[in-house]
Amino acid sequence: MKSVVFILSPSYSGSTMLGLILGSHSQCEWVGEFSKLKKYNAQAKTYSQAKSVNFCRFCKPGTCTLYLDCNTYEKISERFKGKLLIDTSKKAGWVEKNKKVVHSVIYIDRPHADITASFAKRGIFRKDMAERLRRSKSTRLKVAKKFPHMTVGYKDICNSDGIERVCAFLGLKYEPEMKKFWLKKHHGVGNVNLINGIVDGSIREIRKA
Ligand SMILES: [Zn+2]
Repeated sequence: MKSVVFILSPSYSGSTMLGLILGSHSQCEWVGEFSKLKKYNAQAKTYSQAKSVNFCRFCKPGTCTLYLDCNTYEKISERFKGKLLIDTSKKAGWVEKNKKVVHSVIYIDRPHADITASFAKRGIFRKDMAERLRRSKSTRLKVAKKFPHMTVGYKDICNSDGIERVCAFLGLKYEPEMKKFWLKKHHGVGNVNLINGIVDGSIREIRKA
């Protein structure tokens, strides 16, 4: 049974990118937003229907069988190599529900004004956004503190020093190649733009900040 590194953060905080970078380490595999798997599985009534659901955005629909018939970390552990699984479900409740498999928790602390701007860029305006973000941060940090945890800044994800620090915290030897996360064949649950960019080849290099 492998242990799981849970990444906690609000949306638009870089969790998928950090997940993919860590998942590109030779000892790790990224499983995406594993918490969504149950919902996806529930939508499919039969085995063949489940097979056609595109759990994994990296594989063509129906071709990725890694997540088929699989909604526990125990099962997915048998299907992946490496010693750590990286989960970017982002939710505090999901970590608590799976406390038996927690290796550690990483909280990404992106300034709330920047997160709000990212939402706005996509035309999403939520009522009481500042208050929501404050509350969710305190909930996530409360859960993170129950386990070995570290906080990283949004900008740390984009530089070697930041990733080196995360590796040291996880007990992993830093591998410079892991930053080229688009070169590894990943399999992960979720549906995010970053993955679309890798799949269609438009993401080839991390742009300089
Ligand atoms: Zn796949």
